[in-house]
Amino acid sequence: MECLFCKIARKEIASDTVFENDKFVCFKDISPKAPVHLLIIPKKHVSSVYDLKEEDRSLVGEMILLAKKIALNQGISEKGYRLVFNVGKGAGQTVEHLHLHLMGGWKENFEI
Ligand code: 5GP
Ligand code: ZN
Repeated sequence: MECLFCKIARKEIASDTVFENDKFVCFKDISPKAPVHLLIIPKKHVSSVYDLKEEDRSLVGEMILLAKKIALNQGISEKGYRLVFNVGKGAGQTVEHLHLHLMGGWKENFEI
C-alpha cells in the first residue's frame, strides 16, 4: 500500500514518534504550524472523516481521549490546544489517512 501514514505506522518511513500503542501512533508534524504540532493516526487505514463508519465510533472517541492525554504529557494542556481534522482537499487535507492535528504551546493566547 502506498499510503504515507500507513508506512509511518509500519515504520517503513521514519517519524519522530512521541507515543504508540496497538491502535495509534502519535508523531511530530514534519512542517509544524505551532510550537507543539503532533499528528495522531489510527494504525488502521481510514482515508478521512468522510469515510468513517458507525463501527469507527470508538476508534474516534479513543483518538480524542488520547489527544487529551498527550496534551497533558506534553505540558500544553493547561494553556489550551487545538484539535483539528481537515476533511477533504478543499479544507486542506493533503494526506489521505485519517489524522488528528494536536497543536499548542503558544506563549501568548492564540488568536485567529
Ligand atoms: P493535512 O494537511 O492532510 O491535514 O495534514 C497532513 C500533515 O502531515 C501536514 O501538516 C504535513 O506537514 C504532515 N506531513 C506530511 N508528510 C509528512 C511526513 O512524511 N512526516 C511527518 N512527520 N509529517 C508529514
Ligand atoms: Zn493509510
